[in-house]
This record gives sequence, C-alpha cells and structure tokens, in this order.
Amino acid sequence: MAYDDSNIFARILRGELPCKRILENDHALAFHDINPLTPAHALVIPKGAYVSMADFGAKASNEEIAGFFRAVAETAEQLGVAESGYRLLANAGPDAHQEVPHFHVHIFGGARLGPMLPKATR
Ligand code: AMP
Repeated sequence: MAYDDSNIFARILRGELPCKRILENDHALAFHDINPLTPAHALVIPKGAYVSMADFGAKASNEEIAGFFRAVAETAEQLGVAESGYRLLANAGPDAHQEVPHFHVHIFGGARLGPMLPKATR
C-alpha cells in the first residue's frame, strides 16, 4: 500500500492536528490515544512515512528502528506501567482492522488486561 500523507498521524506529525504528547525523540513521537481502551493507552509512531511494520522493517534505517523501539520502552516508563506490565499491539491491514495507515504501536496498561485476544475464526 502506498503511503497517504493525509492520514491523521501524518497531520499530527506536521503540527496540523494537536495531540497529548508523552515524549519525542529524533525518530518517534508518543502520545495518548484519543479514545483510550485502558487506563493507560498510548500510541508510538515513527516520524518517517511508513504504512505498516513490514514497510518500516523493510525501509527504515537502523537508527530509525532503534530510536522507535527505544521510544516505545521509554513511553511505557513514562506511563508508569513498565513494572506493573503492559501490552504492545500493532495492527496491520484489514484483518487486523488497522484504521490509520501510518505504522504505530499501541501500549495498553494500567489494568489487568486478561487473555491476549478473544478467539477468532474465519
Ligand atoms: P488502529 O486501529 O491500530 O489503526 O488504531 C488507530 C488508533 O488511533 C485508535 O485507537 C484511535 O483511537 C486513535 N486515534 C485516532 N485519531 C487520533 C488522534 N487524533 N489522536 C490520538 N489518537 C487517535
């Protein structure tokens, strides 16, 4: 899928839309999800234009990848869930119901999250 730079996260990165920023480094931005599903629910996005994890893994530089995953770990710390525990989730494509076509990782925490996912079948 080609990157569409009108997506919501691209607009946040350009400063066209606000976000509740948690932290930022050279390669990533972390902010609170607008519709939190758990007491702590953050999104971490790379600053580069990548649609998905596959796109990011294939095209991003080693520095971008390291900076992104450091930001994920630091965001969990900032949220206060690093010790209590948290779940990472990255939706990719229609089966996963990816809504925003800019690669992002969700961080969920602040509550007992229960089993990984409800069972799903075709
Ligand atoms: P996904 O289904 O993985 O693409 O999730 C997209 C996430 O982005 C959802 O959890 C939305 O609540 C969240 N979201 C959409 N718009 C915004 C926004 N302007 N600021 C923060 N989070 C947003």
